[in-house]
Amino acid sequence: MNKNQPFKVSRRHFLGSALFASAAICFTPPRLFGGDGSPVTIIRGAAATAKINVTKLRGNVSMLEGSGGNIGVLTGRDGKVLVDAGITASRPRITEALESLSADPVRHLINSHWHFDHTDGNEWLHSIGAEIAGHENTRKHLSVTTRVEGWNFTFPPAPAGALPTKLLTDEQTLHLNGVTLLLKHYAPAHTDSDLSIHFTDADVIHVADTFWNGYYPFIDYSTGGNIDGMIRATEANLARVTDKTIVIPGHGPVGNKSQLIEFRDMLTDVREKVSSLKKEGKSLNEVIAAKPTVAYDPKWGGFVIDGKNFTGLVYQGV
Ligand SMILES: [Zn+2]
Repeated sequence: MNKNQPFKVSRRHFLGSALFASAAICFTPPRLFGGDGSPVTIIRGAAATAKINVTKLRGNVSMLEGSGGNIGVLTGRDGKVLVDAGITASRPRITEALESLSADPVRHLINSHWHFDHTDGNEWLHSIGAEIAGHENTRKHLSVTTRVEGWNFTFPPAPAGALPTKLLTDEQTLHLNGVTLLLKHYAPAHTDSDLSIHFTDADVIHVADTFWNGYYPFIDYSTGGNIDGMIRATEANLARVTDKTIVIPGHGPVGNKSQLIEFRDMLTDVREKVSSLKKEGKSLNEVIAAKPTVAYDPKWGGFVIDGKNFTGLVYQGV
């Protein structure tokens, strides 16, 4: 680690210190996906051969796609700053992609939240010199055995080198590579550990898994997520962006304000439909049979979470 280039922070609550494979996956409870494997195993497997796509965005900020969640990269003299780590099995191709951007070593890694498809690569990135920052709940979930019911998977504690050591609880401003990064915690949204990372000079914002561009999102109730938090996070994202802002979603292609609006409208409408059906006393199966997502399925249901899965995720939270 380069001790001469620590996070330079003006801080408020600073405590110091594969892409989802589009395959049959298992989901309990409620049991919504077919198949008997966990998406975790499938995604880790897919990342071993996944191609990494590099997109230059603006102002030395780029995005890598193909290994778990989308990775944001800021290059510069303080070393590369990564937002999210991808899946370890993609290390050779992530390394190649990073080298194609610049020769700067990786010095900083920010975890947008604790999920494995964003933190699996923490350990190797730390081993080559990256200091890891994240919300205190990211460290908390990575430190202990954590069960995600929605993935039917129990994660063992991560090794010490994979844990964030720069922790924040609310918000924090970093100055690296001559630009400002504004990190903000969402109240529980997709999990209880989600952060947005705004490269304010380039006006590029990574919004973690609060935004799946063109796909129904996963919501992790096991670690604090819920549908109303997702909607509040989307409203917060909309309040922060302009028509010019480039939005890096947790999953899906690079996005913009109008796509965020569409996402918000979809979330809100499905939430209202599912909520009123549930209030009528309908069971989950009855609500699914009523097809509250039917108008949205062609556009949003083409990835990991289909209309039935998403109905179940919303039902759980209303
Ligand atoms: Zn996630």
